[in-house]
Amino acid sequence: MAQPPAKAKTVGELSAAAAACQGCDLWQEATQTVFGEGKEGAPMMLVGEQPGDQEDLQGRPFVGPAGRVLEQALDEAGIDRRRVYVTNAVKHFRFTRRGKRRLHEKPNAAQVRACRPWLEAEIEVVKPGLIVLLGATAAQSVMGPAFRVSKQHGEVLESPFGIPVVATVHPSSILRSVDDKSRDAAMSSFIADLMVAAKQA
Ligand code: SF4
Repeated sequence: MAQPPAKAKTVGELSAAAAACQGCDLWQEATQTVFGEGKEGAPMMLVGEQPGDQEDLQGRPFVGPAGRVLEQALDEAGIDRRRVYVTNAVKHFRFTRRGKRRLHEKPNAAQVRACRPWLEAEIEVVKPGLIVLLGATAAQSVMGPAFRVSKQHGEVLESPFGIPVVATVHPSSILRSVDDKSRDAAMSSFIADLMVAAKQA
């Protein structure tokens, strides 16, 4: 078991410590810890759910298909990804095996809770001006279990960290749209939420 070192001053120090974390069972099956990326002092922090298959293999957040949707949406919202810190509420990939494939499985409440100290430590070190919560897992990790993204997305809210937050969907939900029309609508709504965030950061 590893906890964030109290004296960590940089993302690099936190990331190195998290590589040895065994705070829940997810380290056993995943390839590696996938820590956040970006600079201390980034004006905006994006928090997703957990690394996916590609992120787990490459050891970097948002490098798979959902990351490409995110990149496009940030671009359309006028947000420079280089000025954004990206991370996840849970730092190890949770999945079930189906033959050779590894299928995403939502982290449970105990796993999200176990990983929260790492997210808190990142927020403490990065000190973003605004946090964007991507999807229900990130939103509930920060805002509590009663929070509903469907009801409160696109609003600027105060977080328990004293930093404003904007909640929106996770980009992977756009990939799961059933047809082009619903995909376009979901993408437009996602970009509109990010534009709210862009005005604040
Ligand atoms: S998911 Fe988080 S708490 Fe669980 S082992 Fe990984 S880094 Fe530690």
